[in-house]
Amino acid sequence: MALEMNARPGTYALILPADRQRTVRVGRLGRLTVEPGCYVYVGSALGPGGVRARVGHHSRLATRPHWHIDYLRRAATLRDVWYSYDSVRREHAWADIFARMPGASIPLPGFGASDCTCPAHLYFFSRQPRLDSFRRRLRVALPNHGRVDRVSAKGIARLV
Ligand SMILES: [Zn+2]
Repeated sequence: MALEMNARPGTYALILPADRQRTVRVGRLGRLTVEPGCYVYVGSALGPGGVRARVGHHSRLATRPHWHIDYLRRAATLRDVWYSYDSVRREHAWADIFARMPGASIPLPGFGASDCTCPAHLYFFSRQPRLDSFRRRLRVALPNHGRVDRVSAKGIARLV
């Protein structure tokens, strides 16, 4: 339930389908050719406002882009957010799990990963990955990980 989303810190994945090809500039990182398919972006929100404030930010189009994802948001639709209030910073583990899911590719190396050693925090799939498959992989990799929930774009709209 969307209304359960609150200001606690946590980790999230944005599910971002794109319906046509276009090119977007991603700050100083370079250009990204957006292809029809599904982009998955992983981040964490451990500061004030937690997951709720961050998802609220991602639900709108930034007038002055700050993060790499702000540029991609203009060329893709936010369909779903998968999130967890696990208090440990899990974004790099989540990125690694998405990287190993069938059909994953890295559309632009370094995207969202300026401050870590992950190849990227953005993955591309021709078809949207399944939440149950992600949860299963997460349980195997990190048996003590907290619960992962999902909120749809409609639910997010009610939050902000
Ligand atoms: Zn990382």
